Amino acid sequence: PSLEYEQLRRKIETQARELSYFTNNELQKISEKLSENDKFKWKQVIERFNDQSRVLLASIRNLTNVDGYQSWREYEHKALSKLMQTRLNYLQNPSKPCTDVKRLICKINKDCGYGCQIHHVMHCFHIAYALGRPMILFSEGWQYNRGGFDQIFQSLSHTCNTSMVYNVSIWDQNEIADVIEIPSADFLKSLKDFMPMAIPEDLSERLIRLHGNPFVWFTGQLMKYLLRPQAWLTQFLEEKYNTLKFETPIVGIHVRRTDKVGTEAAFHDISEYMKYVEDYYIIYKYQNPNINVSKRVYIATDEPLVFDDARTKYPDYIFYGDKSVAKSAQVNSRYGTESLKGVLSDVHFLSLCDYLVCTFSSQICRIAYETMQQRTIDGAWRVQSLDDVYYFGGQHDHQQRALISHKAVKPKEFSFERGAIISAEGNHWNGFSKGSDKTNNQSGLYPSYKTEEIVRIAQMYHYSEV
Ligand code: GDP
Repeated sequence: PSLEYEQLRRKIETQARELSYFTNNELQKISEKLSENDKFKWKQVIERFNDQSRVLLASIRNLTNVDGYQSWREYEHKALSKLMQTRLNYLQNPSKPCTDVKRLICKINKDCGYGCQIHHVMHCFHIAYALGRPMILFSEGWQYNRGGFDQIFQSLSHTCNTSMVYNVSIWDQNEIADVIEIPSADFLKSLKDFMPMAIPEDLSERLIRLHGNPFVWFTGQLMKYLLRPQAWLTQFLEEKYNTLKFETPIVGIHVRRTDKVGTEAAFHDISEYMKYVEDYYIIYKYQNPNINVSKRVYIATDEPLVFDDARTKYPDYIFYGDKSVAKSAQVNSRYGTESLKGVLSDVHFLSLCDYLVCTFSSQICRIAYETMQQRTIDGAWRVQSLDDVYYFGGQHDHQQRALISHKAVKPKEFSFERGAIISAEGNHWNGFSKGSDKTNNQSGLYPSYKTEEIVRIAQMYHYSEV
C-alpha cells in the first residue's frame, strides 16, 4: 500500500472517534438543560447517534481485512522486528572486547514502581541505541528482586558486564568518555534530538508506513529485547495462561487506584472504563455479525475491591484477573518477587488483549500498550486512555501540525492558521485538546480534529554492520 493510503486509513479512524467524542459530549450537555420528558426523547437521539458512530467504526476497522494489504503488513511487521532485534543483539554484544568499546551504564534502582523503573532503563536504552554504545545494567538489590534483573530476564549481553565499568563520567558532564552513566531523565539539562519520541531516520519511512504511532512500535521493540524472559518466567506465564483459560476477543482494563488517586491521577469509576468496553464489543459485533461472542474483560488493578464491583454491576461479562495479585499490588506490598510476578503477569495479559482501556498517566498502562505493539499489526488504535495521551517521560515537546485553520469561538480556545505547529498537552476526549502555539504565545483549547501528529525523526547509529 502507499504511505498515503495507510495514513488516510488511520486518519479516518481517528476522525470518526473525534467526531463521536465531540458530538456525544455536546448532546449530553444539551440533555442536562431539558425537562424530564424531553430528556427521554433526547436520550434516544444520543443512542441513535452513538450507534451510527459504532457502525461507522466497524466499517473502518474492517478495511484492513478486505483491502488486500494485510499480508504485506504482517510481513513488514515481522521483517522490521527481526531487523530491530538483530541490531539490538549486535549493539549489546559488540564484536570487539567490551572494554575496547565505548559503553554506558544505567541503574535500575530508582525510588519508584516497576513501570517507572523499566521506563528509566528504557530511557538509557534509547540513548544506547542512538549512540551505538552497549548498555550495562546495574540491578543488585533491586526492590522487586534482590538478586537482580538477570534472574528474571535474560542477561542483556554475553560480553559486557558490570565488572567492565571503571572511570565513569556522568553523561551530562562528559559525553565522549569511554564509560558514561545516564542520569534519570528528570535531571538531564538538555535533550538530544534522538531522545523520545524520536524514531531513527534510517527506518523512518518504513515505520511511518507500518504503524500509526511509530515511536510506540520502536520503543516496544527495545523493550522486547530488554525484557526477554528467563525460562522459568516463560513457563510461569504459560501456566497462568492455561489456568486462566485466556481467550479472545478480550478487552483489558487497568484500574490504577491507591496511592495514584488524588496525587498523580483522578479517580475513575468502573463505569468509565466499561463504557468503552461496551463500545468495543458492539463494534466487534457489527464487524463480525455471524460470530457469537462472549464479552470478556481482563482486569489489572492495585485495588482488590474492583473485582467485586465489576462483577456485581456487569453480570453479562466474564471478568478475568486475580484478586490476590491486586493485593500484592497495593501500595505497601510493592517489593519482592511475589509482587513482581503479579505486575509481570498483569502487563503480559493486558498486552495480549485486543483492546485496552486504561489511564496513560500510569506507567503500567503505557508498558502494556508498548508491549502490545510487539504482537499486533498496526495496533496504535487499540487503546482508549481515560486521561493523558500517550507520552514517554522526559520527552521532547509533543508536536502537532494544524491541518485546518481555527478561529477561537469560546474564551478558552485559541486561534491558529493552517500549518501552525502546536505543542499538544492533552486530549480531553470530548472533541477538544489542550495545547499552545509557541510562535505567538497563544495557548488553550482547540478542536482535536484540526491537527495531526508530527513524527519526530532523528539521526541515530546506523548499524551498517548488520
Ligand atoms: P504508576 O505509578 O502507575 O505510574 O506505575 P509504577 O509502575 O511506577 O508504580 C506502580 C506500581 O504499583 C507498579 O509497579 C506495581 O508494583 C503496582 N501496580 C499498579 N497497578 C498494578 C496492576 O494493575 N497490577 C499489578 N500487579 N501491580 C500494579
